Amino acid sequence: MRIALIRRLQRLFFLFSFVLVAGIVILAVRSVGFLLPRQVEQVTIVAPTPEQEIVPSLTVALLSGHAGYDSGAICGDMNAPTVKEVDVVAGIVELVRVQLESTGLEVLILEEYDARLTNLDAALMLSLHADSCILVSGYKAAYPFNSAIPLTERKMLACIDKHYAAQTGLSFHPSVTEEMTRYHAFRKVLPGTPTVILEMGFLGGDAHLLTQEPERVAAGITESINCFLDDVEQTE
Ligand SMILES: [Zn+2]
Repeated sequence: MRIALIRRLQRLFFLFSFVLVAGIVILAVRSVGFLLPRQVEQVTIVAPTPEQEIVPSLTVALLSGHAGYDSGAICGDMNAPTVKEVDVVAGIVELVRVQLESTGLEVLILEEYDARLTNLDAALMLSLHADSCILVSGYKAAYPFNSAIPLTERKMLACIDKHYAAQTGLSFHPSVTEEMTRYHAFRKVLPGTPTVILEMGFLGGDAHLLTQEPERVAAGITESINCFLDDVEQTE
């Protein structure tokens, strides 16, 4: 009787052991089975797809001087139609926008005190203005007096000296003011965004060019921007 009881207990023990071992094996296989696809999943998330590696398109911000704020310089008398700086600039900005967009660039048009200037991250922020009604000729360009990236901004000035001067026939006018080097928009963009202000010419002395030949002015600006973007790309 006792032997039969012991054998029955032994069988029960073996059965119990078998179930226990089988359970452990199933759990081990399951955990390995669950881990593997997870690891594969993580790899596919980390590895960038070719689409993600495409360089984002460059954004050029054009600030249309005085837009949404005031008229800027107003020229005219009994013998000549009134010309407002804000209108002349807006017309040229629009021509530049079309030309830049046709080459695949993203263009952001800003007003004088545009809220989007704050922490603006762009390949370039170029503010366009025209000078006063006096009978003087020439363009002026400046970058922030306290710039964090003066070498980069000087490249844009060099491109303006080369291409804007060639397209418009204008010379640099050496009357850059503190108002230009301490221009309000310079302080608002991100420190890494190159910023330049261009006074495209005098509404007085350069009236014909600015109001009758805006295509030439726009072409000079577009070529200057493309020159700058190429230069920055080459040296980066
Ligand atoms: Zn102005």
